[in-house]
Amino acid sequence: MFLEEPPIIIKNNISFNNLHDIHSCNVSVIWIIYDKKKKIVISKGSSRPCGINHRRKSIHAEQLAIEYCRSHPNRNYQIFIWRYSKNGDIKHKYSCTSCTKLAHKYNFKDRIYTFYNSTKCPAIIDNPPLSLCYQFNHT
Ligand SMILES: [Zn+2]
Repeated sequence: MFLEEPPIIIKNNISFNNLHDIHSCNVSVIWIIYDKKKKIVISKGSSRPCGINHRRKSIHAEQLAIEYCRSHPNRNYQIFIWRYSKNGDIKHKYSCTSCTKLAHKYNFKDRIYTFYNSTKCPAIIDNPPLSLCYQFNHT
């Protein structure tokens, strides 16, 4: 499995293989905390919009990443989120309505990015998609 590398300079040796799961790649969101000055990845993780137990409130990637940045304040930290396709290609992920609210609340709206066509672009958009869980509950 060849995973597409994020189109940013990453100076430390980091692998995303352990975050890529062929069975859940379509729903798992990868997040990294990136130091834009040192050009290194500080932290990384993945999250699913909905766990196996649908009653449990899921924690989104942005939420985890914002929490990390709030407990490790550094103005150079940026958050990148994306998904992998089954082939290992990077797919963009825009923040859902609730994560967008969170980003506005904590002033992170200019610090969260995703990748679209191998280019860095904002993950906070004007008309955010509803979260998956919300859609499941209301259809
Ligand atoms: Zn969200």
